[in-house]
This record gives sequence, C-alpha cells and structure tokens, in this order.
Amino acid sequence: MELHNRLELKFRLDASQKKALHRLKIFSVADLLFYFPVRYSHISEIKPISQLVAGEYATVYGRFWSPDIKRGFRSKILRAEGEVMDETGKIKVVWFNQAYLAKMIHSGQFVELTGKVMESKRGKYMANPEFKKIDSMPIDIHESLFNFDKKKQSEVFGFPVYIETKGITSKWFYHTILKIIKDKTLNNIEDYIPKEILQKYHLPSLKSALIWIHSPKNAKDAETARKRFAFEEVFCIQLERQHDKFEYRKNKSFQVKLDKNSVEDFLNRFPFALTDSQKKSTETILGDMAKNFPMSRLLEGDVGSGKTAVAATATYATVNQRPNGQSFGNLQVAYMAPTEILATQHFESFIQYFKHLSINVGLITGSGCRKFPSKVNPSGWTTISRAQLLKWVANGEIPILIGTHALIQKTVKFKNLALVVIDEQHRFGTAQRRKLVRKDGIAPHLLSMTATPIPRTLALTIYGDLDLSLLSEMPAGRKQIITEIITPNKREETYEKIRKELKAGRQLYVICPRIFEPDPEKELALNVKSAVTEAKILKTKVFPEYEIGVLHSKMSKEKKENVMADFAEGKINILCATSVVEVGVNVPNATVIIIEGAERFGLAQLHQLRGRVIRSTHQAYCYIFAEAKSEKTISRLKALKTAKNGFELAELDLTLRGAGELGGTKQWGITDLGMEAIKNIKMVEAARAEAVRLIEEDPELSKYPLLKEKVRQKVQEFHFE
Ligand code: ADP
Ligand code: MG
Repeated sequence: MELHNRLELKFRLDASQKKALHRLKIFSVADLLFYFPVRYSHISEIKPISQLVAGEYATVYGRFWSPDIKRGFRSKILRAEGEVMDETGKIKVVWFNQAYLAKMIHSGQFVELTGKVMESKRGKYMANPEFKKIDSMPIDIHESLFNFDKKKQSEVFGFPVYIETKGITSKWFYHTILKIIKDKTLNNIEDYIPKEILQKYHLPSLKSALIWIHSPKNAKDAETARKRFAFEEVFCIQLERQHDKFEYRKNKSFQVKLDKNSVEDFLNRFPFALTDSQKKSTETILGDMAKNFPMSRLLEGDVGSGKTAVAATATYATVNQRPNGQSFGNLQVAYMAPTEILATQHFESFIQYFKHLSINVGLITGSGCRKFPSKVNPSGWTTISRAQLLKWVANGEIPILIGTHALIQKTVKFKNLALVVIDEQHRFGTAQRRKLVRKDGIAPHLLSMTATPIPRTLALTIYGDLDLSLLSEMPAGRKQIITEIITPNKREETYEKIRKELKAGRQLYVICPRIFEPDPEKELALNVKSAVTEAKILKTKVFPEYEIGVLHSKMSKEKKENVMADFAEGKINILCATSVVEVGVNVPNATVIIIEGAERFGLAQLHQLRGRVIRSTHQAYCYIFAEAKSEKTISRLKALKTAKNGFELAELDLTLRGAGELGGTKQWGITDLGMEAIKNIKMVEAARAEAVRLIEEDPELSKYPLLKEKVRQKVQEFHFE
C-alpha cells in the first residue's frame, strides 16, 4: 500500500463506512494513519458492576436483561434501555438515539460494555456504551479478572480508542490501521522533522511514532509517540508564526523617534499616574517603534488594567511625528475595536486625550462616520459622509482613525499609516498583515491587545509571531470586586442583598451556562441553568419589579446589539445572558454579576465574566453560584478571590483542569493532542527555540521541503483567515 492510496480502493467499505470516513475527512491511507486515538482502554478499567464510579469510564462483563425501546417524554427521542448484571450487581444501560440496539440484543445475552458511568436522580447508568456480544464470560470473572495483580495489568496494554462516528468503530480503525502497518506501508515513509531535532529531544522517528500511537505495546510507547506528535504540532505552528514574523520584519517602518518631553506632557494630562507595568510596556513599545523595522507586539492585560492609555500614548508618539522628510502633516494611526459600541467609546475617550492638540480624530463603523473636531462646534464631533472621511484619511488630514475591522478594508487608504492598534481580535493573520505593507516596502507597527487570559505556553505558541508584554497589575485605588462563592442554601439571602443594589439604581448581569432549558431525557442533561428560563424565573419569582432582558449567541447580531443598547441605557435592569457577554460593552452602572453553575466554567473564564462589572466607581459584586458541594470545586473557585490577574488563573486552569478543558481548543486551532504540549513549558520552549533557529538559518525552509509541506498542510487545517 502507498500512503497516497485512496482507502476505498484498498479496503472493502460499505456505504455507511464511506459516509463516516467522509465526515471525518479521511480519504487516503495517510489520512487514516494520522487519525490518532484519543486514549487507550486499559484492562484495569474492567470492573465488577458494584464498583462502578460515576464519571469514570469502565468496561463491564455480564448478562443483558430486558432490552426495551422508550421515547423521551418531552424530547420524543427514542432510546434503547436495559440492564446489565454480573455477580456483584446490576446497572441500567441507556443508548440515546440508538433505539435499534434494543432489537439487536436478546434478554440474557452475554455482553461486554465499555462506556462512561453517569448518575441521575434515579441512580447510576451507563450512557451510550460500546457494546459487544460475547458467547460467555471471558474468563472466570471473579477469580482471575477482578483479582488481576498489578504486574499483570501493566503488561497488558489496552486498545486504542478513536473518536467514532456512526458507521465506524474504534475496532475498525484499529484493525484497518494494523493491516496498513503490516503491509509495510511505513517502510519508506520519510520523516519531515529534521533528525537532529528528534535526537536532541529524544523523540521517536515518524515510523515508530505512527506504529506506537496506534498499537502501543505499553504505556511508555504510547506516551513517547504522543509526545512526538504534540511537539510536532507546536513546532509547525511556531515555524509558521516565526516565518510570519520574519517576513513582516523584512519591511521597513516609519521610525517613530522618541520625544521624551512631549510624551511626558501627554502622560501628565491623564487624570492618573501610570502603573509600573503600564510604564514598562509603554517604554518597550516606544522603543520598538523607534526601530527601522515594524513592531509586532501583543499587550496582554485584564479588563480594566489600562491598555487604552498605553495604546493612546503610542498613538500620540506616532501622530506627533511628521512623515519622512516632510515639515507638515502627521503619521497616521488606525485603531481597530471588536465592536461598533467599543469603537464609539474609544472615539469618545480619544477626543478627551487629543482635544488639546490640533489633531483630527475619525470614526468609521458600519453605521456611519464621524470626525472630531466639528467646524461648527470645535469641542464636539460631527457626522460626515464615508466618502469625505475616506478622502481625509487618504490625504492624511485625519491622522487617527478609529473603527471596527472595516478599517482595514481595501477602500480605506491611508497616506502614512505608521501604527495599527488591534484591540481584542485573537489573531491578526498573515494575509491581513500583508495588505498593510505599502508598495514602497513600509509597513505599520502592530500593537495587538487582549484581555483574554490564556496560559503563557499557549500565548507563546499561538502568538509566536508577536513579542509579549503583560500588564500584570490593576491601577491603584480601584475598588476590588467583592467576590463570593454562594452555595445553594445562601441563594435567597444573596438575592436580597442584590435587591438593595437594584433599588439603589444599579444593574445586574446573570450569566447562565446554557441558552435554553436542557432536554431532561438527553444524555448529560445536568441541572444546568439556562438564560431563557432563568429570565422567566427571576421575573416571576424573584425580581418581578424589574425589567429583565435576555442575551445569547443564537440571537441575531441586530437583536443582540439592541438588547445591549437597552441595557446600557438602563431600560433593562437585569440582563440574563450566556457567556457571550464576555467581550461586550462597558456598562458602568452594572455593578453586580451572578454566575450560575460556576463549576461549569474555567477560572479564567469566570474571571473574565466578572470583569464586566469592574468599570464603575460604585462597589462591584460578583456572586459565584456553585451547585456542587465538593470541597475540591469550592477550593478551586476560591482562587478567584486570591489570584492577582486572569493570566495567573489561566495557568491554574491548565494545572487543575488540563489542557483539554481550556475552553475551546477549536478557538485556538490546536488539536487536543497539540494541547498536551501546552501543558509542558519545556516542550513549548524547545519547539519555539528550534523554530526560531530554523527560520533564521533557512527562512523559506528550502533545505527541508517535507517539513515545509507539513507546515503548509497544518496551516491550512488550522487557519483562521
Ligand atoms: P482595558 O485594559 O480593559 O482596555 P482601559 O484602558 O479601558 O482598560 O482602562 C479602564 C479604566 O481605567 C479607564 O477608565 C482608564 O481611564 C482607567 N485607568 C487606566 N490606567 C489607569 C491608572 N494607571 N490609574 C487609574 N486609572 C486608570
Ligand atoms: Mg480595552
């Protein structure tokens, strides 16, 4: 077999298998080899039924009784049910959406079931287990199997478990891949990772790693193979990012010469003194901008840490300078905000910062354009036509242009764009950057800013093309948000405390983990609050005297903006929302936030949600409602009261919850396997160091064509653009 062979030409596949493979985007032999198992089922997971623990995976052997088909009371979804019994006990088994299974089993059949043990009010059950008919119990179960000694257990390594889809099982994957391997398909496979790198970090060759990941003899082989593929993923991302950085740095920049005194004057006009980390970041940024190649820097800092002041100072230094060789005009700055409302808020702040200078500030959003100052009223702004604004931007008369990403569209032409500030847009990709490079080879400095707390290893990876600065502290004198962890018995009294705040005119966010009420018949139908239902409950039972609005991701953009606007204007007192409000607008009067089902969120995410109420002069409160009573959950949540910033909490999430739960690996374009590397600072640093070295030595990877192809392929898979 050859790697590029199409599977359907080499294996007999039925229609449902073909469909399944298509769904998984597995077409060739190589695609299949690179479809990795997510875990391995260990023989040690075989358990007597009496010892099953809710939340864990297990395999049980026993006889199956009373197969039956039932229909969900509300959902109307069919499910197969029954019971499996061994010498030690019995447990209910449920297959949702797979009613046909009930017809495949007869009562009394011996079965092997592997799946997750769940618990509902009515007791434990196995949800959607893998199911295999067997002729008899495998061995004398209570003797040899359950009394397996430890040594034996470690000798027997389990089968790989793949993410399955209808029509295809782990077993199929396993056996098909074994055939591919036995057919010596891997004999001539060439490794795309340079040998010396593999040797240096004791990583296995591609051939060994592929064999080990699919059919490991022991845990160590499996681990070594996974380590290689995790390294490889981070390495490839790094190569791409380092290449981006290298490319961008080849451009020239508008060197912004540092004029210390005038920057001092600008800073002195702020009604506050900069924090130490604001000072440090500002210095670094001004230092970068003085260089003859463009800056690419990411400023990380919690909501409220004062990133705008830093960006405004960089903006000031830029517009304060004449374009190269000119005695008039200003260098220009584009400031991109994630939403119209934020762009408008920034426009208003910038008027305050720049009104003492004779500098025009423009605003461009989907709903229109503005210019400060207005000719008629020099202390205010005026609306202008888009055409007029574009003209003034193109001829340089408007040095500062604020807007949504519409700002970087082709139609917006700048005369001397020297700095681009990108607020809270996770990645500003290569293609977008390329558009910023002028014909004469001058490219603007880039300053990205984010409040999204992620662990350092993840930042070093996904932002590998950027230099990092961190605002680690909050401005002094800021009122701390009073954060309390509320157990269910304190709910009522907490509502009364909140009522006092509402009476005093403040507003409240209520964050729920779900949009709609879950279907109680569905698997994993935990008792999780939904925004829509919670709004109704609050309106009828708790706060009937207040206006309550709902906000969630299934609403149209327009509806969302309307609700947000009503909330901002105080027409709505209480806003029930899902976590979509994470990156939202600033409503200073909303000083209280309730987070329902807090155990369902990561610490960093909770922290971000809490950040919604930080912007006021009034005391802010955050009530974390936890349903779980477990000590572990409560102590995890308590970190919210002690951690210095969101980035620290993100690190904690990484150690406490694991990379898989960092909240949307999809968001970052890294696979679960790649995320295993994110837990390992040494591995990330090694991948980064090697990528930097390789790109320096051979920017186009011309000596490493296989590696270059691999990077290209990964970039396509994961691209954001
Ligand atoms: P973010 O980092 O979330 O963008 P902002 O830049 O919007 O934060 O700042 C939040 C608020 O804190 C603003 O009202 C700003 O004026 C104020 N602020 C910024 N820096 C300081 C400081 N060093 N001392 C006091 N207040 C500050
Ligand atoms: Mg901001």
